[in-house]
Amino acid sequence: MSDRPSRNEEEYFALREAELHRERHRKAIGSHEDEERKAHFMKCPHCGAEMNTVSVDGITTDRCTECHGVFIEAEAADRLLQEKRETLHSIFKSMIRGVSSH
Ligand SMILES: [Zn+2]
Repeated sequence: MSDRPSRNEEEYFALREAELHRERHRKAIGSHEDEERKAHFMKCPHCGAEMNTVSVDGITTDRCTECHGVFIEAEAADRLLQEKRETLHSIFKSMIRGVSSH
């Protein structure tokens, strides 16, 4: 019997090494994405300023403190259109007030 690893053993270790390499790569990318997400959390996608959470009649939106851009989740937007047209009107009125106060 030879001390050399068999072809199957070499293939096994090569595959294992490649798997570990991919896992390290995935973790590195994952931590980079986590850092990116943390850095952009509650920042305006338009100008980068802080966003404030504003809740009107159970509908939550995030509003930029600088450019007054508004973020609303799709589900909340759908609820506004389906059930709460008056709330939608109030939100838009408050947005316009915010802009005109500057
Ligand atoms: Zn902004």
